[in-house]
Amino acid sequence: MRLATVLVDGKEHLAAVYDHGVAVLPASAPTLDDVVRGGPEALAAIRHDLGDVVPLSSVQLVAPLRGFRRDILCTGWNYWDHFEESSGKREGQDPADRPRHPTFFTKGPDTVIGPHDPIAFDPAISAKWDYEAEVALVIGKDGRSIPEERAWEHVFGFCVANDVSQRDLQRRHGGQWLKGKSIDATMPLGPWITTTDEIDDPYALTVRCLVNGEQLQEASTAQVAFRFERIIAELSWGMTLRAGDVILTGTPSGIGNAREPQVFLQPGDEVVTEVSGLGELRNRVVARELSSYA
Ligand code: MG
Repeated sequence: MRLATVLVDGKEHLAAVYDHGVAVLPASAPTLDDVVRGGPEALAAIRHDLGDVVPLSSVQLVAPLRGFRRDILCTGWNYWDHFEESSGKREGQDPADRPRHPTFFTKGPDTVIGPHDPIAFDPAISAKWDYEAEVALVIGKDGRSIPEERAWEHVFGFCVANDVSQRDLQRRHGGQWLKGKSIDATMPLGPWITTTDEIDDPYALTVRCLVNGEQLQEASTAQVAFRFERIIAELSWGMTLRAGDVILTGTPSGIGNAREPQVFLQPGDEVVTEVSGLGELRNRVVARELSSYA
């Protein structure tokens, strides 16, 4: 299934997305967060509630998940061409060699926006707003120290995400990634969750990012340095993953910071993030003051 959260008459509803339209469930139905956490029974239950199919254009897609209980979990440097492209461009913070284990960091949950929402931009916060198209995994079952061969049992589905980053903030605060990855309202997620049974081969997905119509990233998930099973196994090692957690799986080459000349996002830019089979995010960069006390 493809499951979305949509806004109808100002209220959020769970919806099932089909090629020919969308079936909006009644407001009394569970949220998509509830379904993800509710296991197979919750997923089976909503099938009885599916109503009439209406055009997708008649509803507004919002972020599929809202009820985050921890940061968005992220993988860095998971495409070697991306790791290599930034070599010497990390202002003295380059690792010596390719990592032998996945690199992890997190993003604050207040980063998450919907598939068509504006990406917040405040030049007082950062001068280097960059894009990173990624596949996101949505965890559907709690687990700790999950073996690779059981990893898919713990995945509910996939989303598209853009790990929009502020490069100068990444460098300024000791080379960590949290601060330069956690600015409010900057991470589009969606357009819906595609359950794992819909995807025949998770290593045959094409990941793309276009800015103002120009394609700046394109790669296949076949190129990942660490496969999704390995990411789940290493991340859950001694650390419980919970249903509802979201794991970003890394971006391929083509980021703005590594280009010559460099490309950074500006107000008015349209960022399209797409993954074959999972859908498309289409977000405009819009000025919004984030630098004053609130
Ligand atoms: Mg990233």
